[in-house]
Amino acid sequence: MTQPLRLQRSRAKGSRLVSPDGRRVVYCGRPGPFANPFTVAKFGEYWAGLHFIRWLLGSGWRDFEQERRRELIRRLPSIEDCHLSCWCALPPKGKTDGCHAAVYLRLFGMANTYARLRAEVEKNARKGR
Ligand SMILES: [Zn+2]
Repeated sequence: MTQPLRLQRSRAKGSRLVSPDGRRVVYCGRPGPFANPFTVAKFGEYWAGLHFIRWLLGSGWRDFEQERRRELIRRLPSIEDCHLSCWCALPPKGKTDGCHAAVYLRLFGMANTYARLRAEVEKNARKGR
């Protein structure tokens, strides 16, 4: 079984993403629960990706859209093992994919960080938030 991939959506008429191996493909753009609230239009590709990482991991933007962040983290287990699609161009071979959907794929491989985020969200749920 191959690893889940980050796929690029195309605006070309009639184009449709096909899963390379039968896994589900989950769209991570807007609108949707897995979209990046930091838009490329407003922040540029580089900063949209970087702000997203800091916001998701809780190391920055701590007063920004926290209910949305918690809801996103609660839903992450539902997209583990899925291919994730977004509009962002794929990076050149060997370069890091700056797209936020690729951040999810990396996060799933970071067991401790992923467990910490999920524990934080569960703790908040018990507090009634
Ligand atoms: Zn993207």
